[in-house]
Amino acid sequence: MYMREQIPSFPFTIFTFPFGPMSYLYTMPQLKGKVLKSTGKWYQVLLDNGEQLDCRIRGRLRLEGLKTTNPIAVGDVVLLSDKRDEEGKGVIEDYETRINYIVRKSTNLSKQLHILAANIDQAYLLVTLKHPETHMVFIDRFLVAAESFRIPTTLLFNKVDLLNEDERFDLEAVMDMYRTIGYRCEPISASNQQNIDFLREEIKGHQVMIAGHSGTGKSTLVNALDPNLNLRVGEISSAHHQGQHTTTFAEMHPLQSGGFIIDTPGIRAFGIVDLEKEVISHYFPEMRALIGQCRFHNCQHLNEPSCAVKAAVESGEIYESRYWTYLQLMNGDEDDVHRRNKHT
Ligand code: GDP
Ligand code: ZN
Repeated sequence: MYMREQIPSFPFTIFTFPFGPMSYLYTMPQLKGKVLKSTGKWYQVLLDNGEQLDCRIRGRLRLEGLKTTNPIAVGDVVLLSDKRDEEGKGVIEDYETRINYIVRKSTNLSKQLHILAANIDQAYLLVTLKHPETHMVFIDRFLVAAESFRIPTTLLFNKVDLLNEDERFDLEAVMDMYRTIGYRCEPISASNQQNIDFLREEIKGHQVMIAGHSGTGKSTLVNALDPNLNLRVGEISSAHHQGQHTTTFAEMHPLQSGGFIIDTPGIRAFGIVDLEKEVISHYFPEMRALIGQCRFHNCQHLNEPSCAVKAAVESGEIYESRYWTYLQLMNGDEDDVHRRNKHT
């Protein structure tokens, strides 16, 4: 026994590692890929070599993601073992640090969060003035959520082909308003392929997210950007809702021209998760610009005297509709516009 402990273990270990239980440490180079789709149980991963592989997560990784219902999400860059499991599925061992991610509250009663998608360079919010009408409160709530997740957003006003002269005037006014606040706005027509080439260029080399009410033309736009994808127009959200439960899953589509589009069916899922009241105004760029100008440093811009935000609303510098959304968020109001319209 004594003699054996004298034997230096180093060369011995080197020799046994590739055959022993730790042999996975020697499986370099590790396979890398992006998660295109997830059902919670399995993940569709696009490998760097272009191959697509169904994968599951190594158990250890599941435990690390305790606070969320899913440790891995669409858009994640994952590292795989070079070995398949007994069913021939790939095994996700780890994921790379995310630049950002969007979450919603889990549908179960615990306070867990569900990560919808990760690594989003930009969000395109599809807005339609009619068929269907997108309410401004909805736009503003989306923008606040996107600001809180640190995702730059462009507003795409779709279906401009449907607008008459008066409505075009309204469109210009709405776009002016959001441009003044600092958001880029582009009028497009997905079905007429009007003003969409710039999107194809922008998406190259990036991972972007497309959002908007059901019916605003998300599938039409994705198909226009890459006809090979052939998404079902007008059926997308209902197809997703036929799943076992009401949970809707995001999906990431690789575009032939380069880059990826993340489609998140069920826009209500992109919720505002327990924002602290103190920080809500920071997610309104025009209010953020006034930080430090109210009399009280902890001003909530409600009824406090000498409030710079309220003064700006009164002078018209801050749009009333935006302030109204702010008040709703401060009150913790549910988004009753959505409930009433039963949009997804
Ligand atoms: P999604 O639910 O957001 O994916 O919307 P869809 O892509 O399924 O489109 C809903 C409906 O809007 C379909 O009937 C489309 O043909 C129509 N649509 C989409 N884009 C346009 C557009 O630019 N102009 C017009 N007139 N209709 C459009
Ligand atoms: Zn104030």
